[in-house]
Order: sequence, then C-alpha cells, then structure tokens
Amino acid sequence: MELVNGAYELSNGLDPMALCEKYDCPLYVYDTAIMKRQFERLTSAFKVKKLKINYACKALTNINVLRFFKQLDAGLDTVSIQEVQLGLRAGFAPGEIIFTPNCVSLEEIEMAQALGVKINIDNISILEQFGHVYSDVPICVRINPHIMAGGSSKISVGHIDSKFGISIHQLPHVVRVVEATGLTVEGLHMHTGSDILDADVFLRGAEILFNSARHFKSLKYIDFGSGFKVPYKENDIATDIEELGEKLSERFNKFCENYGSDLTLMFEPGKFLVSEAGYFLTKVNVVKQTTSMVIAGVDSGLNHLIRPMFYNAHHNIVNVSNPAAKPRIYTVVGYICETDTFGVNRKISEIREGDILAFYNAGAYCFSMASNYNSRYRPAEVLIHEGKDYLIRKRETFEDLIRNQVEMDIFEKTSVIAK
Ligand SMILES: *Cc1c(COP(=O)(O)O)cnc(C)c1O
Repeated sequence: MELVNGAYELSNGLDPMALCEKYDCPLYVYDTAIMKRQFERLTSAFKVKKLKINYACKALTNINVLRFFKQLDAGLDTVSIQEVQLGLRAGFAPGEIIFTPNCVSLEEIEMAQALGVKINIDNISILEQFGHVYSDVPICVRINPHIMAGGSSKISVGHIDSKFGISIHQLPHVVRVVEATGLTVEGLHMHTGSDILDADVFLRGAEILFNSARHFKSLKYIDFGSGFKVPYKENDIATDIEELGEKLSERFNKFCENYGSDLTLMFEPGKFLVSEAGYFLTKVNVVKQTTSMVIAGVDSGLNHLIRPMFYNAHHNIVNVSNPAAKPRIYTVVGYICETDTFGVNRKISEIREGDILAFYNAGAYCFSMASNYNSRYRPAEVLIHEGKDYLIRKRETFEDLIRNQVEMDIFEKTSVIAK
C-alpha cells in the first residue's frame, strides 16, 4: 500500500477505505501481486537445474492463498496433518507436499504417509519406529546444524538445545538406523529459524548438509528451510536473496557435480512470500489523552494480531483515512481486557475517532495466529487479485462462538430477565 497523490492505494489503485466500507472492519487484506513478486524474486535468484519453492502454509492458511501458490507452481510445506489435508483440498498432488512436523505422534506421521506426502523426520525415535514398518517409503531427515539464528528466542530453532531436528552430532546414529531398517533417505533438510540476517549463515548450514549428504546415496533433494527476513520498517535489514542466490547456487551446483546427480534445491519460505502482501485494517474507537501520551484504541487486539505482544514484532501503522494531516505521536492499543499494545510512540498523521488505521506486514502469522479471546469474532479476509477484491473468509458470528459448546440442561436456565 502506497501513498499516491495524498491517498493510500492498494495495487491497481484499489482504495482500502472502500474495502472497509464494503466488508467492514477489522479486515485482513492480501494482495496476490506482492506474493507473486516475492515468489519470482526467489525463483530468479537461484540458478540451479532443479528448484522447488514450497510455501510454508502455516504463515497464512487460507485455501485460496494455497491455490494461488499452486498456480505459481510452488509446492507446500506443512507442519500438521490438518495442513496436509488443506493442501490436498487446495489441489496439490501428494508428492508436492512435504510434511515437517515436530514432536507429533507416530500415528499422525502414518496418516500423512497414507496420504502419500513426503515425510520429513526430525527425531531418531520416530526414525526407528517408522523405519521398522515402512522401510520402503523414502523419507527426508531434518538435521539440526546448530547454527544460531533467528530474530527472537521463540523463532530460533537451530541452536544446540533446540527441540527441532536431529543433531548433526547424531549423524552416525542416523546412518546406523537407516542401515539397520533399510530405509531410503531421499532428502536432507534444515530450518535454522526465522529472521536470518546474513546470507553466510545459510552457507554455513549448507556446508554441513553437503558434508552429511556423503552418507546417503539416493538423495533427490536438499531442503534449506527458510527464515528469510523481510523488512518491517523503512531501511530495515532484510535477507539479501539475490546475494544468497548467487553464492548458494554456485556451491550447490558444485556439490551436485561431486555427488554425481542433479538434486533439487528446495526452500520453504512462509514469511518471505506473504508477510508484505498483507494489511490489517482497523477502526479507531477511542482517542484518549493520559498524563504522558495520546492513546488510540482500535476495534481489534491481541486476539487478531498477536505478533507485537508475542514477539515484540514491529508493524508499521498508518492512518489511511487522514493521510495528509500533521503527524503526532501515538501509542496504539487494542480493545482486549489485557495489555495489548500494538505500537508505542508512533508518528502517525493525526488520529480522530472513526479513522481507519492500517497495519503493514500483516500477511504472515497474523490471521493464522488469531483467536476468539474475549469471545470476539475473528475478522474477515479479502484477497486482491488482478485489480478485483474477493471475500475469502467470512467474518465470524455468534453461531461460530457457540458451535462446539455443549449446552447442558443440568443447570437452571432461568435468566435474570425471566425473573
Ligand atoms: C515455519 C516454518 C517455515 C517458514 O518459516 P518463515 O520464517 O515463515 O519463512 C519453514 N519451514 C519449517 C519447517 C517451518 O516450521
């Protein structure tokens, strides 16, 4: 969304205020043009014979977004059997879906294998159990290279005590289990975390996987996970995809030559593909002056967008309904009965009650982490595609809140009004 002649515009000149009129607030809006731009940045950055980008759908699981990426020829990275089912429903072939769960039951992995998707195994216990029963099913092994990365401790998953992956130090054990069970390892995988700031972190991890690959003769792919950082504010550092593409491609091609076959280079980005494609539109309910600041309270909260509170994440906030006004300093908060601050001391054009505030970077881990806390409805979602807007998820209603509650008749039903 950009300021054009003093007004904020989505792609093809679409007006965010008109969307608020049409669909009401709070509202998530996603722009396929930005998803496509990001997808193409990746596919043109890596110059290898075989490349597959698997969209990590936990970032944004609306089935229409999955279908959009399918149309771009992406694969799908899934972390639960339900995401596998969503992917199949969206039209992905089982072979285009990789299942990379963590600490799930063997039963869940067996369900995924029955559906025919690629299985990525991340602990030795499951490797043994799976191998004893399904030695004829080729698998991928998730290696933890112990590279410290990630923007916060919650999203850094590659460090030494991380619960993710099989430690690189246990590689001999993996090799023994593979030999004893007769399993075929067709893929090696690593995912060091989110918000990696430096291309060289990837390259260090890559060397570890290339070294590990010597132990497995039937590899078809190497999956380098994700963790590409996107900018959240102006002049924010972001992963230099083009630099990474150049360096890693060269190294990967050399590896394939030595290995003796052309493997597929895989990545599984979530945030990189959808973060910047999303905007969250909210309406200002209250503007309130305290002794030290001006607070703007919107019709949303940590129930809809928890990243600022959960990860200390920064989301740019702009006033789309009063863009030309003089900027003032605001603290923007939610309506949840708990402290849910979206941003402190933000410079935003003057906010009046009723104004529409837009949050940037609202495509990844925003709606997908939304809840019904305080018995609030989750927002509607709208997709913008080639200049048109489409409702892709209805706003919830009271029925949705009560749907799975079992109303018992063992308590008196008299209401206060009836008395
Ligand atoms: C979450 C996750 C991703 C995506 O991470 P982003 O930071 O959103 O790109 C990729 N792979 C695995 C295994 C994941 O769990």
